[in-house]
Amino acid sequence: MSPSKHAGEGALPPEASSGTVHGTAMLNTIALWVIFVSAPVVFLTLFFFTAPYGRHFRTGWGPSVTARIGWIIMESPAFLVIGITVLASGRPVPLLTVLLLLLWEGHYAYRSYVFPFLMRDTGRRFPVMLILFAFVFNTLNGYANGHFLSSVASVTDGSFLQDLRVCIGIAMFAAGFLTHVLSDSTLRHLRKPGEEGYKIPHGGLFEYVTSPNYFGEILEWCGWAVATWSVAGLAFAVFTVANLVPRAWSNRKWYLATFPDYPRERKSVIPFVF
Ligand code: NDP
Repeated sequence: MSPSKHAGEGALPPEASSGTVHGTAMLNTIALWVIFVSAPVVFLTLFFFTAPYGRHFRTGWGPSVTARIGWIIMESPAFLVIGITVLASGRPVPLLTVLLLLLWEGHYAYRSYVFPFLMRDTGRRFPVMLILFAFVFNTLNGYANGHFLSSVASVTDGSFLQDLRVCIGIAMFAAGFLTHVLSDSTLRHLRKPGEEGYKIPHGGLFEYVTSPNYFGEILEWCGWAVATWSVAGLAFAVFTVANLVPRAWSNRKWYLATFPDYPRERKSVIPFVF
């Protein structure tokens, strides 16, 4: 598949007015700017102020809700907005778009509606302020990626599977998703029913890094960027790295401070690197 088939070739529906097109293009540009500009800000900030949820929860960050409700509210826009954006564009939805959409929706169905119900309910709280940030980010990100997907209108057969980028990107996404979900599961099973505390995780990638669930997520969205070969995909991959690398660094610091026997050779998130 040639690069030109990847983006920007969607035939406009006859009823699409130039005003609508300009409006959506403008919104897309704003979303991309916000994501790209906020990435370095988030990256630097999180090295100084650890996000106050989970093991790092502390009071003084305003009202809070239960973690389960928090995850559902803040992640739902990512699940809903991309699909609505693709459908509302009125453009044809070719096979490649369907496939990419399924990858995205698979991840966010898990994150928004499965993970919150699998997590052990310890009564831990989640600050509303963080939920608001994540809600806005997920709305903009879902919009930008939906806007991109609705422009992929020219590949209606399976020929895109001959494109190395699509194949490598999807393989990375699948490997990342598997790593992510399995690592979440390992963490979840550390607690027996009724337990609330934290333990040292062992096995698999946990022997190499503190947060393999974050590593899996980074791999997923880098795969998405490669498969979509889009500015929106790149923006999300950059933001994911900026958001999760400092969090993993804080997690490792926390384990080292909390457990004297925590293996010091474990890196934070990228095996053998960081
Ligand atoms: P954590 O690894 O901190 O926690 C995941 C779950 O496992 C929580 O329910 C937590 O309980 C439990 N847990 C973690 N460590 C232990 C332990 N040592 N012993 C017992 N239980 C433990 O992940 P996050 O909560 O930060 O994130 C959850 C998911 O969301 C991750 O998979 C991450 O990739 C994703 N995420 C993605 C972001 C992005 O930018 N794309 C941003 C943030 C998260 P508790 O809640 O009690 O701490």
